[in-house]
Amino acid sequence: MDIRTGQGIDFHRLEEGLELWIGGVPISSDKGAVAHSDGDVLIHAICDAILGAAALGDIGFHFPNTDPRYKGIDSRILLTKCVELVMLKGYHLVNIDSTVCLETPKLAPHIDAIKESLSAVTGLEKSRIGVKATTTEKMGFTGRGEGIAAQAAVLIRSV
Ligand code: MG
Repeated sequence: MDIRTGQGIDFHRLEEGLELWIGGVPISSDKGAVAHSDGDVLIHAICDAILGAAALGDIGFHFPNTDPRYKGIDSRILLTKCVELVMLKGYHLVNIDSTVCLETPKLAPHIDAIKESLSAVTGLEKSRIGVKATTTEKMGFTGRGEGIAAQAAVLIRSV
């Protein structure tokens, strides 16, 4: 049996009047992510963690932000592809853990919906998906509300 870990990190600028998607869930907010895709920072971090675990490169390699096919794309489609790519290499997901960094809005009321969403896309049970949130105590770009960041770690195992 082969067990591997992967980690991913992603950032997006935030601007007023844009949608904010986190983990495939629309979040009510006065600011949203600037991106070529839907800007779902959490899913992007998870995609990179999954790809990294199987040494399959990164999200920018598989889904270039210069490719018009990915303009405004629902990041759940990208996550589905990443899960398929590691399955083709003979692995399946064991668990995901993640943290989203943003100052506002509070994510706590949305965590369960985000886990439901990630469970539906990855096929993992909710009990195997960690989603945490933190502010940066008003420090730095996330603290000033200029951007959002997410980190993820995954474990994959050979089938
Ligand atoms: Mg991104």
